[in-house]
Amino acid sequence: MSERTPVIAANWKMNKTIAEAREFCEALLPAIRESDAEVVVCPPFLSLPATVEALAGSDVGVAAQNMYFEPDGAYTGEVSATMLLDAGASAVVLGHSERRQLFNETDEALARTVPVALASGLLPILCVGETGEERDRDETDRILRRQIDAGLSRVPAERLADVVVAYEPVWAIGTGKVATPEQAEDACGFVRALVASRDESAAERIRILYGGSVKPANAVELLGREEIDGALVGGAALDPGDFAAIVTAAG
Ligand code: PEP
Repeated sequence: MSERTPVIAANWKMNKTIAEAREFCEALLPAIRESDAEVVVCPPFLSLPATVEALAGSDVGVAAQNMYFEPDGAYTGEVSATMLLDAGASAVVLGHSERRQLFNETDEALARTVPVALASGLLPILCVGETGEERDRDETDRILRRQIDAGLSRVPAERLADVVVAYEPVWAIGTGKVATPEQAEDACGFVRALVASRDESAAERIRILYGGSVKPANAVELLGREEIDGALVGGAALDPGDFAAIVTAAG
């Protein structure tokens, strides 16, 4: 693995009550004490303050699963960067494929949201990835280019390395159908080359994660790849033992 500090993030999606979030954190902390990875837990909004409280005093960060780019106003159901910071979040997942597919989140909205998150002091975790049909049509690079160009378009070159990108092929999310280490590494390398076309030094430093059916059994092989700087984990992140095993695989 490279000099870049790996990021292992647990995306709980719409799972876990406040009590369950606390229980998970209590089980997780002793199990990851030896790890040097940057660990992030992404609870639903309502469990965010309890998760922050349960992880207080540890190095584990807490990320929201989404935010809106406006600072305040008449946006029913939305949450701003300031609100997330106020609740103790240090990061935010943006453009998850479930948000793009089920809630019509667009590249244009993400182009506005990523720089707002960054400027507010949140670590943006920008998700990109192609569908199975797009891969079958050999369109993976074109889709990644479109999503990266848009998502990072308003991020100044000197801040590019402060974004985390998660390459998440849609066909691998929640399906048990993991990308091969070669497929994952090729796509992460392609994303890095796109960043290099803006700024070579940022490309060296930016963390590019893989996400899609990462489990303890496949984590070592994926995380051992030079271009893969960590993992965004869904299903296997609901169990503290499984998630800890993935963290441990990152070193
Ligand atoms: C995710 O939710 O981002 C994800 C990768 O899910 P899973 O690990 O379940 O495929």
